[in-house]
Amino acid sequence: MKVKNCPQCGSLFIDVGFRVCERCLKYENEQFEIVKEYLQKNAGVTVEQISEATGVSRQLILQFIKAGRLSGSITKLAGPQVRCERCDKPILEGRICAQCQSELTEKLRTSSKKDDNDKIPSKVRFLKRRKEEHERGI
Ligand SMILES: [Zn+2]
Ligand SMILES: [Zn+2]
Repeated sequence: MKVKNCPQCGSLFIDVGFRVCERCLKYENEQFEIVKEYLQKNAGVTVEQISEATGVSRQLILQFIKAGRLSGSITKLAGPQVRCERCDKPILEGRICAQCQSELTEKLRTSSKKDDNDKIPSKVRFLKRRKEEHERGI
């Protein structure tokens, strides 16, 4: 069993593939619902406006956008609120822009032809998938 420090509150927790501890996860989900609800009623807003109106920290809202969790409400935003981590181009959601994404995919495809998933035990693969689904808000 692997234990790690929660980057949010610093407490120790058992690493089952989530980024933060259970308590912080619950907190983040509550904050996420607040942001989602606000976006359902308001359109053309910036991250600053959402943060001011809901009290949810700017950093956390950006995190939701980068994780792609606000996909359904992304058109409610007043344009791109985040930047591509690779080329700094303004983007609507995610960490990198579509162009960088395809460039990276291409690079990955040409550099390693082997399927890395084959080397990962199925349990780890399952947890990884659960984590990805969670980050996407499924
Ligand atoms: Zn925590
Ligand atoms: Zn880019």
